[in-house]
Amino acid sequence: MNIYKNRLPLTSLGFDIDCVVADTMEAFIRIAREEYTIDIKPEQITHFNVEQCLNMDDAIVQTIFHKLMVDPIGYKLKLLPDARPVLQKIQTQAPLTFITARPLRDPIVDWLEHELGSQITADMHIIAMGDHDSKTEHILDLGLTHFIDDRFETCETLAQEGIIAMVFDQPWNSGRHSLPVVRSWQDIHACCFPLE
Ligand SMILES: [Mg+2]
Repeated sequence: MNIYKNRLPLTSLGFDIDCVVADTMEAFIRIAREEYTIDIKPEQITHFNVEQCLNMDDAIVQTIFHKLMVDPIGYKLKLLPDARPVLQKIQTQAPLTFITARPLRDPIVDWLEHELGSQITADMHIIAMGDHDSKTEHILDLGLTHFIDDRFETCETLAQEGIIAMVFDQPWNSGRHSLPVVRSWQDIHACCFPLE
């Protein structure tokens, strides 16, 4: 399937946040190094549940993710490269929609506003529901037809429901599924604005 031939419908497109919009892996690796003197290389993160691929105490892993959940601004969570201009451009044509498995909504709303600017986020839709496996119903409720996520299991579930799910390529999903892939925000730009 050549994903570039069919322009993604901006009004019915949704995004996961962590490791799609946010560079959560960079923040996780940085905090592990700075606060726990644990050195991790990105290519070591070969599983979505990092406890399964890193020789790290589960409690430390959970503590780092908790920090990034409650205070993403304070812990300097950043956007992935090129996410800002592409999201800003999409928002000129349709409100942005984000669906995250994070259980806390307010900190990530504040972070998106901090990173993208309040003009871009004023009309956004964001659902934080605390569960990787219930995204489907929220996506269908919102009338979305297309969704981008880095958890391939989520994308496979969505695809079974007729949603066009695209996997944002990361070391923990690469080669583990047969769904369409986007590798960068430049790829997403090309899918959204193919004639430019
Ligand atoms: Mg994610």
